[in-house]
Amino acid sequence: MDRLRRSGLRVTSARLLVLRALRESEKPLSAAQVYASVKGSGGHIDMVSVYRSLSILASLDLVHHVGSVDGFVACRMSGEHPESIAHLLCNACGVAEEREIPLDVLRAIVVDAKTTGFGSETVRIEVMGTCRACQLNAS
Ligand SMILES: [Zn+2]
Ligand SMILES: [Zn+2]
Repeated sequence: MDRLRRSGLRVTSARLLVLRALRESEKPLSAAQVYASVKGSGGHIDMVSVYRSLSILASLDLVHHVGSVDGFVACRMSGEHPESIAHLLCNACGVAEEREIPLDVLRAIVVDAKTTGFGSETVRIEVMGTCRACQLNAS
């Protein structure tokens, strides 16, 4: 919330409703699921505002788009946002956990990309697997 205020953008109710819906979920939500969640908790919003809010919140790193499941998650980092992050995605329960990528790993990826002439801006990594809780449940 502080980052939204500090960004100088107006804290509109649509942005707050979208952010709240995502914070309540540990799993990535599609735009349609965000819409349903806001509606379900009695909020007034339309799909256009959902898309617009998601795009603004994502540009501020307050929410992240997780490409492999095409969903959005609220950022759980506090303070200054790390340059590059990874999401650990559980195939069993769908929970996404955000991790900061160690700088060495980040540098290695950026240096490798550079050998092809590619100029990296952000590195986003998605790791698929099974979370601790699901591993314990399975055993
Ligand atoms: Zn984040
Ligand atoms: Zn799991």
